[in-house]
Amino acid sequence: MKRWQWLLAVVLVGFGLAAFGVIPWAYVLAPLLGLAIYSVGIASLASFRRGMAAVPDGPPAPVDVRAERVTYWCGGCGAELLLLVRGAPVPPRHCGERMAERREVARESR
Ligand SMILES: [Zn+2]
Repeated sequence: MKRWQWLLAVVLVGFGLAAFGVIPWAYVLAPLLGLAIYSVGIASLASFRRGMAAVPDGPPAPVDVRAERVTYWCGGCGAELLLLVRGAPVPPRHCGERMAERREVARESR
């Protein structure tokens, strides 16, 4: 049996015992409430981990601005910046929001 099947069996036995008055309901509901609080805590910690996408996972890579121009534009204040060195794959933040990415590919020189 898997772990959740054991848990379900224990909960069902606990509900049965509490329904017939053998044990108080608190003995069944308190561990379930603790498990729910633990699950919410673990899920909120996992959301912090997902927020780490802005942290680079390797050394910064220079961008060749002659072949491709990558600019970021802030929708809040209108600031625009040119990317010279890429540190992380996600766009930077400005005014509390992600900046919009715009790529311009250089025209072939004749
Ligand atoms: Zn801004």
